[in-house]
Amino acid sequence: MMAPRPTYAHPDYRGRIGLIAPYAPGFCDSCNRLRVTAKGALRLCLFGELGVNLRDLLTPDQDEALRARIEAALIGKPSGHRLHESNSGDTRQLAQFGG
Ligand code: SF4
Repeated sequence: MMAPRPTYAHPDYRGRIGLIAPYAPGFCDSCNRLRVTAKGALRLCLFGELGVNLRDLLTPDQDEALRARIEAALIGKPSGHRLHESNSGDTRQLAQFGG
């Protein structure tokens, strides 16, 4: 399990900030993250490649087919990113995902 990430605060301001450190050991160890792009592609890893099209199943009457496609796609979910190999997949900027 990944150690809790430190957060930082300034006494003159409200709130705290934390840093996302994808190169830290264990960063991907408990990953259960999935993302769907604005175009309806399921991304199995933030730094993965391509995506699984879900767009044609994003209507209320296709829940079972949608579930089946997502479950089938999960078999291909990587155990971690490949940033250490200078491979960020299709992600050029995090803004592609809305942050
Ligand atoms: S880089 Fe990929 S595998 Fe690692 S935590 Fe993020 S989404 Fe999960």
